[in-house]
Amino acid sequence: MSGVPYAPYAEVIGDPIAHSKSPLIHGFWLKALGIAGEYRRAHVKAEGLAAYVAERRADPDWRGCNVTIPHKIAMMDLVDDPGDIRGTIGAMNTVVRQPDGSLIGTNTDAAGFYAPLAELDLEGAPVAVVGAGGAARAVLFALARAKVGHVTILNRSPLKAMALLAAFGLKGDVVGLDAPLPPAALLVNASSLGMTGQPPLELDLSPLPEGAIVYDLVYAPLRTALLRAAEARGLDIVDGLDMLIGQAALAFELFFGAPPPEGRDEELRALLTA
Ligand code: NAP
Repeated sequence: MSGVPYAPYAEVIGDPIAHSKSPLIHGFWLKALGIAGEYRRAHVKAEGLAAYVAERRADPDWRGCNVTIPHKIAMMDLVDDPGDIRGTIGAMNTVVRQPDGSLIGTNTDAAGFYAPLAELDLEGAPVAVVGAGGAARAVLFALARAKVGHVTILNRSPLKAMALLAAFGLKGDVVGLDAPLPPAALLVNASSLGMTGQPPLELDLSPLPEGAIVYDLVYAPLRTALLRAAEARGLDIVDGLDMLIGQAALAFELFFGAPPPEGRDEELRALLTA
C-alpha cells in the first residue's frame, strides 16, 4: 500500500501489465475530480493471484482492481460474490472491496465493448470474432444480446470457441486462424494477437463487404496492423480505446464512488495517444 494514510487506491493486475493504460485513465479522472486517491498497475503472475487477493482484501485502503490477461477466469473463484457473472459472461474484469473486506466481482467489458456499436442495428448481421478468451466472452455476450446472425469464431483452440458459441446460444461455426474470413458485417479482434510483444494477426480482409466494421480490442498499439489494413480498404474502424474508456468509467465509479467527469473524453484520448 502507499505511504499516504487513508488514501484510497485501486489497481490493474495482469501478466504482462506494463502496457496497461488504465492508470493513465483513472489518474486523469482522479485529478480532474480532485479525489485524493491513486490507481496503480501491479504485475501479478498466475501463480501469485490467490496470494495477491488475500493480501489486498486485508487492506482497507484498497478499493479493488481491474483484471486483465490471464486472470479473468481464475478471479471468479477468488471473490466472495461473483453475482451472475459465472452464468452469463463467465469472465471477470473488476473486483470491488466492500468495507467489511468481502470482495464483489463484476464485468464492465461487455457494456464498454458495445457502446460504440449501440447506434447500429446488428440484428441478424453476420459477424466474425477472433479469439475465445476472456475478452471474447464479453464480446459474444454483448453480440448475443444484440441478436446478431451467424457468428464465425476464428481461434487457435477450437474447443474453447465451440463452448462459447453454445454458452451464448449463438448460431455459427469455428475455424482456424488461417481460414478465410466470411463476408461479415462486423469483424472483431478479441484475441491478444497484434498486441505489442505478441504475434501479429494476419488476416486477408478482402471477403468483408463494403461498409463492414473492423473493431480491434487491442489498444497497445492503438493503430494495429489490422486497423491499418481495414482503413486501406476503406472500411469503418473502431479502436480499443472506446471500450477501454467505457469499461474503465463503470469501474471508476465502483472504486471511487463518483462517475468520471463529463465532456473530457477527447482530452483523455489525446493523453492516451500522446
Ligand atoms: P485471454 O483471455 O488470455 O485470451 C487471449 C486470446 O488470444 C485467446 O483466444 C487465445 O487463443 C488468443 N491467443 C493468445 N496468444 C495466441 C497465439 N500466440 N496464437 C494464437 N492465438 C493466441 O486474453 P483477453 O483478456 O481475452 O484479452 C485479449 C485482448 O483483448 C488483449 O489484447 C487485451 O488487451 C484486449 N482487451 C482490450 C480491452 C479494451 O478495453 N479495449 C478489454 C479487454 C481486453 P486460445 O484460446 O487458443 O488460447
